[in-house]
Amino acid sequence: MRKEAPVHDVIVVGAGASGALAAALLAKAEHDVLLLDANRFPVRATCTDWLSPHAEDILKSAAVPTEAILGDPVRHCSMYLADFSKSIDPELPEKTAFLVDYGQLTQAIVRQFQAGRQGRFEDQTEVVEIRLGEDKITALLADGRQYLGKFLLLATGIDSRLVQQTGLSAGLAEGDGWWASAYSCPSGALAAPGRMDCVLAVGGAGGVGYRMSRDGRLTVGVCVEGSASDAQRELESLSDRFMQRGLLPSDWAEHARGVTPSRSAAGVALAMDSHVAKRTLLIGHVGGFAASYTNEGIYPGMWSAALASQVLIEALQSSVPQDTLRRFESLWRTELAGHLRAPFTDSQSILPLVFSNKQMAGKMVEAFHLGVNF
Ligand SMILES: Cc1cc2nc3c(=O)[nH]c(=O)nc-3n(C[C@H](O)[C@H](O)[C@H](O)COP(=O)(O)OP(=O)(O)OC[C@H]3O[C@@H](n4cnc5c(N)ncnc54)[C@H](O)[C@@H]3O)c2cc1C
Repeated sequence: MRKEAPVHDVIVVGAGASGALAAALLAKAEHDVLLLDANRFPVRATCTDWLSPHAEDILKSAAVPTEAILGDPVRHCSMYLADFSKSIDPELPEKTAFLVDYGQLTQAIVRQFQAGRQGRFEDQTEVVEIRLGEDKITALLADGRQYLGKFLLLATGIDSRLVQQTGLSAGLAEGDGWWASAYSCPSGALAAPGRMDCVLAVGGAGGVGYRMSRDGRLTVGVCVEGSASDAQRELESLSDRFMQRGLLPSDWAEHARGVTPSRSAAGVALAMDSHVAKRTLLIGHVGGFAASYTNEGIYPGMWSAALASQVLIEALQSSVPQDTLRRFESLWRTELAGHLRAPFTDSQSILPLVFSNKQMAGKMVEAFHLGVNF
């Protein structure tokens, strides 16, 4: 007799910080979760990322041990205008962002998920097609296998091909919009652990750049509006200016070679019509959950994952699951949307104030580190 294929409570596609965290929370609530990722794990991060201090609570709620993965908190933050004609060293808030290795972070969440009895993780497993039925969803793999689930969480990051199969419009379209690019290089004598420099008005009033120091390496990045080549040009030009001021080694270009800019999800969630398809929710970067101004996406992605898990836990017990799933849209708009909005509408007029008024500069730092609006 042919054995019936098991139907998992939830299939999560994508084990970045968002998908892995949702899987860990659902498994902690004793649900049967299958987590799939196309990449081979552990993934090696090439750059340092900054992570909101609020992320510590979300990680702890999924029982992820944080000591080893939350690196240096930022202890010094300078702010520069893009042409370096102005700078200021604002006072830091009591809690500042952590400088983290994203590969270590995702690996720690996946490990916590695997530690429970309810979860199964498969890396090097690409989902190529999804079918959304009335009672269950099907995930079809590149190798021809298929898995069944009651619900689907799409957390595929920048890759939005599967979103097109849900009937939802993907927020991360190709072409012009916000683009992010970053690289890292050895810091040598420039090492300054816990240091983050923020650069405002890169490639236009709303663009930002940064330089961060961790584990003997410097990471330089930008997030600018325009095209991929605009992002690359701004990254190179900003690196040149950092180098001229002795803040980057002279061989930085060797390390920046081959860097490919990525579409940024900055603020995209706010413009999307819906994140809820049949038995499916979109979370993290693919759902556009990144802060409009700073491109901070790890904490907003994990936050969207926590809200989605909450809704899925209810939907798994509901007699009208699709109605319950729809609650995700109102929930994230109430709780998380404020964090994603740009801190101000007219970036051009606020810039002179930031560099002449320490209080305003402090608010700008809070926007970077804590996503606080002003
Ligand atoms: C250059 C740059 C710098 C950034 N710096 C920062 C920063 O310093 N701080 C910050 O907070 N945010 C930063 N961000 C944003 C942040 O990286 C993202 O918002 C965050 O990684 C999103 O996490 P995620 O889990 O949604 O997606 P991801 O981390 O991208 O994970 C998606 C996963 O899905 C898998 N996947 C995709 N398609 C499939 C498929 N079909 N089948 C199976 N698996 C699949 C991928 O292999 C991947 O592992 C930066 C972004 C860029 C581009």
